[in-house]
Amino acid sequence: MTVVVLSLFLVIGVVTYTMWVREGDLPLPAPENPFRHLEEIKTRIYENLRDLQFEYRLGKLSDADYQSSKLAVQKELGQVLGEIDAVKQKLAAEGKTVATSVPGRKKPQTHTCPHCGATFKEALKFCGECGKAMSA
Ligand SMILES: [Zn+2]
Repeated sequence: MTVVVLSLFLVIGVVTYTMWVREGDLPLPAPENPFRHLEEIKTRIYENLRDLQFEYRLGKLSDADYQSSKLAVQKELGQVLGEIDAVKQKLAAEGKTVATSVPGRKKPQTHTCPHCGATFKEALKFCGECGKAMSA
């Protein structure tokens, strides 16, 4: 219980600090990856949610405590997710490539001949190299 409340305050403090800095007029030295910091906070919040649920299941938290703590954590989470979106949009507006934690780039699909290993961009009935049937 005490640990949860303490870590909750820590997260709130970090988020508040982050937002305060972002809203200030200071020209910040650009961090290498602006997401890393926010992703760390996000991870911490998820951990807090997990801890909350864990302590609640153990009966260490009352319903009211659990609900109010959960709401507070979820609110922080919403703010951090909003921050991440804002950074993404800002970077996109600046024409920078957005390095998210999940690379969304799809590999171009190729079809490989099982007989000779030749690759083709289109699905062919017969291999253009060795002429054998290319089964899907
Ligand atoms: Zn072939």
